[in-house]
Amino acid sequence: MKKEEIINLGEQYFMPVFQRAPISITHGEGVYLYDADGNKYLDFLSGIAVNGLGYNHPAVVEAIAEANRTVLHISNYFYSESSVKLAQHLVEHSVFGKVFFANSGAEANEGAIKLARKWGREVKGENAVDIITMQQSFHGRTMATLTATGQDNLHQAFGPLVPGFKYVSFNDLEALTSSIDENTAAIFLELIQGEGGVIVADQDYVDDVVKLAKEQNVLIIVDEVQTGNARTGKLYAYEHYDFEPDILTTAKGMASGVPMGAVLAKEEVAEYFKPGDHGSTFGGNPLASLAALATQEIIAEPEFLNHVNEMADYLVEKLEALKEKYPVINSIRGKGLIQGLVLGGESKPVFQACMDKGLFVSATAGNVLRVLPPLIIEKEHIDEAVAILDDVFSEKE
Ligand SMILES: *Cc1c(COP(=O)(O)O)cnc(C)c1O
Repeated sequence: MKKEEIINLGEQYFMPVFQRAPISITHGEGVYLYDADGNKYLDFLSGIAVNGLGYNHPAVVEAIAEANRTVLHISNYFYSESSVKLAQHLVEHSVFGKVFFANSGAEANEGAIKLARKWGREVKGENAVDIITMQQSFHGRTMATLTATGQDNLHQAFGPLVPGFKYVSFNDLEALTSSIDENTAAIFLELIQGEGGVIVADQDYVDDVVKLAKEQNVLIIVDEVQTGNARTGKLYAYEHYDFEPDILTTAKGMASGVPMGAVLAKEEVAEYFKPGDHGSTFGGNPLASLAALATQEIIAEPEFLNHVNEMADYLVEKLEALKEKYPVINSIRGKGLIQGLVLGGESKPVFQACMDKGLFVSATAGNVLRVLPPLIIEKEHIDEAVAILDDVFSEKE
């Protein structure tokens, strides 16, 4: 099909919720994507932090082929070797004791919210079901996760929202302290607000939140849907801080593009879920579990994490040099291979200009250009991306 034909069909049949670029991707290879017009794009978006291993990684291709040869899906009435091995792997590479498999970030967060409410009710009392989340946060598009998301503009058309959520400003201990009361079950936060503009939680803030949570007997849930899976140079972002969350959610980079999410919880919290409390038809099926296991076995390797950190150092060094050259770049922030360029103006035109020159990045929070390259990038790819950014900023001067 011709590109125009594809776009026209999309316009005709899709619900118009996404603003798509007029590009139709045909295939990918390594860190590059190709479109129907024969254009090649360097992908510093990675399907929004999903394709950490790039495209057509042989281990992922083989895992999916194995699922295809054996069984793609069984119900959760049965066991499969791939899903139990994956659960074991996730537990052995984290501070958690139990795992629940879902199919997306929002669905993982729904599970975490339910678990925290059950815990609150049974441990603290019938009304202890409130969840405190952060302004500018993003937790998903389903009703409970939309409610958890601290962005009024996303709420407006969809009330009534789910009761029992409160919002406080991020990196602000006082706001959090005055918001906690005897009905609080959990504090729910991203350690790096990705959609919110790559805003990193301060070390001191997290230390204080942990102290406060302990004093008040409330859970800490970290949403690592975007920051998990080696994105920040550690397997999970919480490892950059000095604490163990009670519950963690993960999804995006988990299975290299096969939809999958998970809730990881401390044993003593997870035990409040009983048979019948939660479920998912597709969650953890052999297709997703095999793709995830292949992905996790690679990204958990110390050499792989070293590579991510080495590339991150190189990327930040190059971005800092750009910042020196172009005053429109106010600051560079992030951890590992999630980085944000905070601009003095709108980031959307910059994102658009990059795309026209063959580089995919993303624009968030109005003035932030977010880069989320595949974790397998090499220095030459960073040089190529930075040369395009240099070009774009020089033309915008
Ligand atoms: C993307 C994202 C979600 C939602 O994930 P979906 O798979 O789109 O439901 C939730 N939380 C964070 C932090 C995210 O980045």
